Amino acid sequence: MIIQELLDIYRACTLCPRACRVDRTRGELGYCRLPADIVLDCALPHAGEEPPLSGKNGAGTIFLSSCNLGCIYCQNYQISHSADGRRLTVIELARVMLDLQKKGCSNVEPVTPTPQTPLVMEALCLARMQGLTVPFVYNCSGYENPDVVRMLDAMVDIYLPDFKYGLEEDALAFSNAPQYPQTALGAIREMVRQVGDDLEMKDGIAARGIIVRHLILPGRLNNSKEALRLLRREISTTLPISLMSQYTPIAALRSHPLLGRRITVAEYDEMVDFALSLGFENLFVQEVDDRALTPDFDRENPFDASG
Ligand code: SF4
Repeated sequence: MIIQELLDIYRACTLCPRACRVDRTRGELGYCRLPADIVLDCALPHAGEEPPLSGKNGAGTIFLSSCNLGCIYCQNYQISHSADGRRLTVIELARVMLDLQKKGCSNVEPVTPTPQTPLVMEALCLARMQGLTVPFVYNCSGYENPDVVRMLDAMVDIYLPDFKYGLEEDALAFSNAPQYPQTALGAIREMVRQVGDDLEMKDGIAARGIIVRHLILPGRLNNSKEALRLLRREISTTLPISLMSQYTPIAALRSHPLLGRRITVAEYDEMVDFALSLGFENLFVQEVDDRALTPDFDRENPFDASG
């Protein structure tokens, strides 16, 4: 059975392209420093996703600890760069999913399930047997092993991958992620094969399909433009693209020569125009908040499910 095949990967871990091949069932730790357990930070209804995902009552966001990509600027640094958290059994995670559905959430959405995929999918199967009917959203960084994504066929309703880098030099500089562009494109191609290159709606809520997210980094429009060119060339212009404007430097990067500021309205508008000029029709766009940062910003804005 596919869940057992997924669980077996923990023994020589290749769940993501870093392919550490450590035996996580014996306590060996790879790049993500996660054990072969579910490690949760928190789960909550989240209103800040794209409108078809948030719906009226929020997306059912499940923030899992650690991330296999580990961007230096991550907007959820305190979660994605730490393997600490609450260890849950499969039964407990299934209960978390059912609780989110009970709260009226439009879906259940683990954030960066990649290093924890086997047990997350086992919990999903259990929750489905116990009455979970809302869509399952796979919200990931795009740095996925396409062979593992292939194993998720028919279990994921909506893929929500990032496509962060068109330029490998940026992937190396900011995420230490060799071959990010080709690897993420391979994964997205497989996601599209499973769920199509569009977003199907039911009663105003996303039911099946894909949204590809791209976080625009300050001063790195060349990277963003190359990302969109690659998506057009390798996937399709029907693909729903979410152009994300909310990049905010974490405290440690406030004096970084490139990443030390928010993006400007002009940068964002240039990217929207560029996406339209390439023929992308299904764009999710956002307001740009380019106000100066306040000393209290980090305390006032604890979560962002967009990496
Ligand atoms: S999931 Fe973690 S241990 Fe497995 S290959 Fe990726 S980084 Fe390495």
